[in-house]
Amino acid sequence: MRIDIISVLPELIESPFNASILKRAIDKQIIEICFHDLKKYASNKRKQVDDYQYGGGSGMVMMIEPIKKCIDLLKKQRTYDEIIYMSPDGKMLNQKISNQLSLKGNLIILCGHYKGVDQRVRDSLITMEISIGDYVLSGGELPAAVLCDSIIRLIPGVLGDETSALTDSYQDNLLAPPVYTRPSTFEDLKVPEILLSGDQLKIENWREEKAIERTRKLRPDIFD
Ligand code: SAH
Repeated sequence: MRIDIISVLPELIESPFNASILKRAIDKQIIEICFHDLKKYASNKRKQVDDYQYGGGSGMVMMIEPIKKCIDLLKKQRTYDEIIYMSPDGKMLNQKISNQLSLKGNLIILCGHYKGVDQRVRDSLITMEISIGDYVLSGGELPAAVLCDSIIRLIPGVLGDETSALTDSYQDNLLAPPVYTRPSTFEDLKVPEILLSGDQLKIENWREEKAIERTRKLRPDIFD
């Protein structure tokens, strides 16, 4: 998979890709991430990518020309499955969307800044709009990093143990069961006996029971 990320401040998003699971996915060439500095596509000498909004009011708006130039250039080189704009009024990100996007080949992610982008960008260039929650951040870079992480960890070969993404919360509409590690007794806190029993079938049943119990209690809205 290849993800092209367009931003006025690409340095804001680069670091999450330089460590841990995301870096490993890049090193293993399972995923290619390309950052595009929108200022390079500005047509005037001042490298201007934003301007005052028509009708007045505070806050700058990102202009359509540099965004269109950048997206057109990318589209000339390959076909994209989705051109995504990170936006607080977009579709709320969830595991189902991440699963679907993890099956795609090429994605573009546009990060907004300031007041957001000229509406004509959204109307004519964008195929999907995603929000990471009902709150407003200063830019789309952190949301784009969240989106990329949630997608990339689902691609086969990225996580060391393939099954571990499948047993995470929200796969199968269930939250994950509780997990424990050594020591088996810490002060007066004990690991549930069954996990030490070595009986894999019983352990799996216990985990499923706990996942159902936890989901019912914490997220009755997703429990069916
Ligand atoms: N004026 C806009 C907010 C702009 S915030 C509004 O009120 O809707 C600046 C940029 O940050 C946005 O263009 C978007 O790319 C990004 N952003 C902010 N909050 C976000 C969220 N919850 N999810 C996804 N992107 C977000």
